[in-house]
This record gives sequence, structure tokens and C-alpha cells, in this order.
Amino acid sequence: MSYQPSSKRYQNIQYRRCGNSGLKLPALSLGLWHNFGFVNDFENSRNIVHTAFDNGITHFDLANNYGPPPGSAEEVFGKILHSDFNGYRDELIISTKAGYTMWDGPYGDWGSKKYLVSSLDQSLKRMNLDYVDIFYHHRPDPDTPLEETMAALDLIVRQGKALYAGISNYNAEQAQKAIAILKDLGTPCIIHQPKYSMFVRDPENGLLDVLGNNGVGCIPFSPLAQGLLTDKYLNGIPTNSRVATSGVFLNESHLTPEKIETIKQLNNIAQQRGQKLAHMALSWLLKDSRVTSVLIGASRPEQVLDSLQSLNNINFSDEEIQAIEAVLK
Ligand code: NDP
Repeated sequence: MSYQPSSKRYQNIQYRRCGNSGLKLPALSLGLWHNFGFVNDFENSRNIVHTAFDNGITHFDLANNYGPPPGSAEEVFGKILHSDFNGYRDELIISTKAGYTMWDGPYGDWGSKKYLVSSLDQSLKRMNLDYVDIFYHHRPDPDTPLEETMAALDLIVRQGKALYAGISNYNAEQAQKAIAILKDLGTPCIIHQPKYSMFVRDPENGLLDVLGNNGVGCIPFSPLAQGLLTDKYLNGIPTNSRVATSGVFLNESHLTPEKIETIKQLNNIAQQRGQKLAHMALSWLLKDSRVTSVLIGASRPEQVLDSLQSLNNINFSDEEIQAIEAVLK
């Protein structure tokens, strides 16, 4: 069936400026790490993308290795784009990345110019696109000079294969250096994608300050800690959950009795705020103005709609913040 985007798609969502750049991103963006590979149900993947766009989620985040198999999320997304989004390219922000293992040999991993340039060329082919909006270096490379990796991002932007450059998984010190090199090259780093949630607080140790001080946007990934920061695991492991179905990045070992107790207590605070825990986990990130957009995943369209409800209340009282900190301590 042909897809017609909702005419009301821009009515309810907020768009936030990405650092000092000209780019605005929706408060929630959709990541395609899980549930978009060849192994997944295509119609479900397609419906997730439709639901997101119908509700103003204009930003879709990919990487060369998303699948499984690696590369298949980009192919699936490319198929959806070309069957359903003809004429809408200028309303979409599409990002991809390179930095993790993608192909055999010395040129399919880490941060060399050789790898980044050829990987993006492959990504563009898989999605059948002329350019992506944001291209990220996916993780720091301890062996390649940072100058080379940043020069690759600069080159890619100058070639028009990406409009903006970003970094991911860099710590505060690494990010500061990368931002400075890119600034000198004349291609600003506009965005950083760190792992950040109520359960993963590393960006608070300097990284958010570096980003704020340099006018670089922040888009936290795994904001629900892959689903742990929801009420789904409070009474066992649902058969359709990531713990039950994926097992690689999230499994039963993450569900310790202490963790479940913490989730229960956070769930109580969320209920007192009139929110579900998933909503509170997302709005808790968005309360910081340095956070441009929060990068969610979804295994079905209903979760996208549910997560959007987080935008109804992103204000926290001091008492609520203290209560959350007391639980997380
Ligand atoms: P989340 O922490 O948002 O976890 C998403 C999962 O949580 C879903 O697949 C679903 O799991 C569950 N969920 C989502 N919404 C709800 C809801 N409203 N109620 C209940 N459960 C819900 O993010 P991800 O870990 O998926 O990461 C998001 C994106 O971040 C990725 O797609 C990718 O784009 C990016 N990313 C980037 C990385 C990097 O190195 N730069 C690394 C990892 C991710 P279930 O299957 O249980 O239903």
C-alpha cells in the first residue's frame, strides 16, 4: 500500500538547534540499530519509520554495521526511502557512521581516511543516496592520528557526500581535540553521539561541558538503556523484549535483583510525575538544554508513539531530581 505522510506531522513535536549550527533536530530521533536488518520483519520496520515521520521525527540514525547482517539496516532503510519517501528527501535528516569493524583486512575498521571514505561510499550505495546529512566517526581510534580521521570528515563534507560532521563515543578530552581540529579545518563538528541515560552518566564527567562550551550538539544513544529504563522487566522477561530476542548487547545478566529494585523505585517516581518510566527516562535527558535530541530505538510503531509522550513533561522539580539521584546513587 502506498504511504502518504500525515499532514499534521509538524504540529506537535519540538525542534531544537544542534549546538551553534543551522540544523534543528526533533527532540526525539529514531535509531535503526535494532529491528531493521534483513532478519527483521520488513513491514514492521517500514511502519516504525512511517509512524516516526508522521509525528515529526525527521531524523533517522544509521551506521554502516547496523543489521544484522552488517549493512542490511541501510539497505532496508534505502528500500523504504525509495518506495515511500519520494519527494521528501529535503524533509529528512539521515545520518550514518563508520568506525567499528565492517569488512576484512586492514581497511575496514577504526579511523583511517581510507576506511571512512570508502565506507561512506558503500553506505550511500546501500541507501541509494547522493549524500547523508550527518556523517560520524563512530568511535575513537587509538592508533590513527586524530588529524587524519578529522581530515577525512572534512574531505567528505567538502565533497558533498555529507552535509555535517559528527563524532561518537569520544570522551571529553578526545572530543575537545577533535572539535578543535575540525574547527581549524573549517568544517565544524556539529554533534556528538554519546551513550547517556539515567544508568550511564559518563557524559556528565566533562563531556557535556566540552560540548556546551564549544557549541556542539549532543544526541544521547540508548536513552532507555536498551529498554531497561521502562516498566517491561518488572514482572519477568517478555518474550518479545530485547533481553529475550537479542541477547548479544542486552541479556539476563543485566537484570540483577538490585537493578530490578532500582527500576521499581524509578518507576514509582515516574508515576508520581504522571509519567511512565520510559517517558521519565527520556524527559530526564531533554531537561538539559545541551541535549539537542534523544536517540530512541523501537521494536514496534506503538513504542514510537508511546515515547513521544515524554515530550509532554520535560520539567523536573528539585525534589524530583533529588529523589532520582537518591535512587541511582
Ligand atoms: P533505547 O535505549 O531507546 O532502547 C530501545 C529499545 O527499548 C527498543 O528496541 C525497545 O526494546 C525498548 N523500547 C523503546 N521504546 C519503548 C517504550 N516506549 N516502552 C517500552 N519499551 C520501549 O535505544 P537503543 O539502544 O535501541 O539505541 C537507539 C539508537 O542509538 C540506535 O538505534 C542507534 O541509532 C544509536 N546507537 C548508537 C551507538 C553508537 O555507538 N553511536 C550504539 C548504540 C546505539 P524491546 O525490543 O524490548 O521492545
